[in-house]
Amino acid sequence: MTRIGFGEDLHALDRAGDHLWLGGVRLPMPFAAVAHSDGDVLLHALADAIFGALAAGDLGEHFPDAAPENRGRASRDFLAAAAALMRARGYQIGNLDATVQLEKPRLSPHKTAIAASIAQLLGVAPAAVSVKAKTGEGLDAVGRGDAVRAQVAVLLIKS
Ligand SMILES: [Zn+2]
Repeated sequence: MTRIGFGEDLHALDRAGDHLWLGGVRLPMPFAAVAHSDGDVLLHALADAIFGALAAGDLGEHFPDAAPENRGRASRDFLAAAAALMRARGYQIGNLDATVQLEKPRLSPHKTAIAASIAQLLGVAPAAVSVKAKTGEGLDAVGRGDAVRAQVAVLLIKS
């Protein structure tokens, strides 16, 4: 038995910031994600994909923006909750494929570290995690440098 899930997330970028969390990795950047939590757009999309594969609602239902306990919260907590629900329902990660869109700087040098971080957070083999990087091609909010976007597809396997 397998189940497929998809997650997408977008965060505005604040040029007053100096770092971006991506997949649990803190990257020095000339901006920061505007967010209630640490703004890790990739972990948000991944947690949403896992909740989606389980048909268990979305990240916002599990961790409401308005809840004070979620302010500044590490997004790895969100992923851990999604993974715990996945295991409780008898599933494990088969593989996941992620794309992060950021106009600049290029994320290519960080893809391996980000994928390794996600594999570690989920306790899966590195070969089960794909992280790809794209720009916004100068178009839309990502292309203008105003936002970062992540999209994740995940396959769950009944364990
Ligand atoms: Zn988010």
